[in-house]
Amino acid sequence: MEVKKFMVIGAGQMGSGIAQVAAQAGLNVVLHDVKEEFVNRGLGVITKNLTRDVEKGRKSEEEKQAILDRIVLSTDINNAKDVDFVVEAVVENMDVKTAIFKQLDEITPTHAILASNTSSLPITEIAAVTNRPEKVIGMHFMNPVPVMKLIEVIRGLATSDETYRIVAELSEKMSKVAVEVNDFPGFVSNRVLMPMINEAIYCVYEGVATPEAIDEVMKLGMNHPMGPLTLADFIGLDTCLYIMEVLHEGFGDSKYRPCPLLRKYVKAGWLGRKSGRGFYVYE
Ligand code: NAD
Repeated sequence: MEVKKFMVIGAGQMGSGIAQVAAQAGLNVVLHDVKEEFVNRGLGVITKNLTRDVEKGRKSEEEKQAILDRIVLSTDINNAKDVDFVVEAVVENMDVKTAIFKQLDEITPTHAILASNTSSLPITEIAAVTNRPEKVIGMHFMNPVPVMKLIEVIRGLATSDETYRIVAELSEKMSKVAVEVNDFPGFVSNRVLMPMINEAIYCVYEGVATPEAIDEVMKLGMNHPMGPLTLADFIGLDTCLYIMEVLHEGFGDSKYRPCPLLRKYVKAGWLGRKSGRGFYVYE
């Protein structure tokens, strides 16, 4: 199957980035969200990114316009009726995601592949609400999507080889590198990253060092481009807590217990960059 028409559900931080890289790869893209203001905001972000590329000489004005012309906005889910491929990038909530997959299963053509950009929820469980679990797959893009090379591709229990092959080809077309993993809590990326961030938070909690010192140790000593607490603020502390809870519940192993200080910050509304305060204070 050749993917020609590509739909993105959710025009937020990730969905707008996914729509941009798909349009850059020459696909016709439908960018869908529940309200017009959300799709317009998503398109605004894409336009800003492409304008920056033109200013820096990475793209011509004509290329920018051609990419934008390939993106159509939607607030009607029935626009999924003639697409070949869907990536869902709505809020990280199982009930919301399964409701969307049920609808997509009814609306999209039977050949269409349904992918989720979830960072932690089980693909097998999402696939189980559809009548095509062999065509359901995880396509975990990294933030910011236009910049980051990796797509962690997650195979659910029933995902077919053919579906994986199409996703791997599509990833290459988007100038990304697909890495195949199986469906276990946190996949690989967040299973390795989040416990490190959680441990850095324990170091603050136990008074081992200040956030600045912890980040300096990891940057200068381990060559990380960004310290774990700066990264946690960037991801969002609520998201970090949510993923730790998925790991803790999924494995039933106390080594994944979220640090009490992380819970406290989230309860206080200190969510990192997006709320103006996390381990650091933002203007
Ligand atoms: P976001 O809050 O920026 O965007 C979510 C969008 O989904 C919003 O625009 C919202 O209006 C829309 N939405 C909600 N319910 C909807 C529905 N029923 N139909 C259509 N649209 C709906 O969130 P985000 O950061 O873009 O995250 C989206 C997904 O990507 C989540 O599953 C998240 O775990 C995953 N993810 C996030 C990151 C990250 O760093 N933020 C990285 C990788 C994966």
